[in-house]
Amino acid sequence: MTAAFVYKAGVLHAEEVSLAHVAAAVGTPFYCYSSGAVTSAYEAFAGAFSDRPSLVCYALKANANLALVRTLARLGAGADVVSEGELRVALAAGVPAERIVFAGVGKTEEEMAAGLEAGILQFNVESLPELAALNRVATARGVRAPTALRINPDVDARTHEKITTGRAENKFGIDLGRVREVAGLAAEMPGISLQGLAVHIGSQLTGLAPFRAAFERMAALFGELRATGHDLHQLDFGGGLGIAYRDEVPPAVADYAAMVKQAVGALDARLVFEPGRLLVGNAGVLVTRVIYVKEGAQRRFLILDSAMNDLIRPTLYEAWHDIVPVSEASEAETQAFDIVGPVCETGDTFARQRPLPPMAAGDLLAICCTGAYSACMASEYNMRRLAPEVLVRGQDFAVVRARSDYAAMLSRDRLPGWLEAVDGAPQGAA
Ligand SMILES: *Cc1c(COP(=O)(O)O)cnc(C)c1O
Repeated sequence: MTAAFVYKAGVLHAEEVSLAHVAAAVGTPFYCYSSGAVTSAYEAFAGAFSDRPSLVCYALKANANLALVRTLARLGAGADVVSEGELRVALAAGVPAERIVFAGVGKTEEEMAAGLEAGILQFNVESLPELAALNRVATARGVRAPTALRINPDVDARTHEKITTGRAENKFGIDLGRVREVAGLAAEMPGISLQGLAVHIGSQLTGLAPFRAAFERMAALFGELRATGHDLHQLDFGGGLGIAYRDEVPPAVADYAAMVKQAVGALDARLVFEPGRLLVGNAGVLVTRVIYVKEGAQRRFLILDSAMNDLIRPTLYEAWHDIVPVSEASEAETQAFDIVGPVCETGDTFARQRPLPPMAAGDLLAICCTGAYSACMASEYNMRRLAPEVLVRGQDFAVVRARSDYAAMLSRDRLPGWLEAVDGAPQGAA
């Protein structure tokens, strides 16, 4: 966690706001984000590149909460979007269109049209069929689509297999060996304006070496394509810099920046970055209440009011999250708990054999480092309501996404005519 979440008078706070106070006001579970933590993460990253033409496009897929995106937009961040929905959030948050990059391996023609309509900075194109589709859509509108080719540099990011994206066997990007040919075709297309190259090799990287290997390849390719007549001016290095969930030691931003500058040398290009997790991951916690303490035959369970539908990272990525009591433990004594949710799956487990002070029903816990890939991946599985999201700034807090409500959830379903009740009598009732 960051300095934004600290105990004050024995209670965990987000900046100046007591999480126990928020729990009493909005109920549990809820996500809580710190504006200050997001701001310092953005400023540290953007500041490391302030000596070069550069643009930091926050990857909305890490957390597309409107208030969070607006917080970043106000600091000057651009946006990296992967769907029309995220494009709409970025625009609604006030990100200028000329700072929006549209990424993703499967953009539809409707999404391309929405991006062109908005006048975004760039489409990162990942295949020849996608390039042809973008050309069609742009030509039909009488415009040229600003385009970068996303390259698959065939580098192993050495991260979790579900979030590695830069190996030749992954679905992402254009093979290194075909880039020259695809660039040549792009140059012939009336609806395409080829302006750069892009790469993104994976998420939660904790070493610089894979980045360095990919970026050096990109810089060389960029220079080569420019020498053969392509008017490239933008080099997009994607996101992927990891954060410390446990005992990982991710590269410091300053070291990452030094490596980038070394890899690009004197290359005359505007650098684009797409960090997601790095900007928001440490800026959020999930606050949840213990419903029951259950003594199993072999283990002691804490059954929480949050579940895998609220936070799927532990079961999806085997992710480790620190879990701490909101009321600071007075005793040094700890017990080992399996910390689980109420969903009917064994996978609904946040942590196993975790040492915590003695806990009782009603106690509050904070699941740490859940600002990224957490609330945005939540679902209503088991017909559970989506947890609300709260943003803190100094002494202020606000609910920035409401808890979903049962009436709205039920009203999305429709009964076909043959199942509708006659005269209000339930079918089958005698
Ligand atoms: C997921 C993704 C990002 C953000 O990755 P982080 O690990 O959150 O920084 C950036 N760019 C692209 C293309 C992505 O798919």
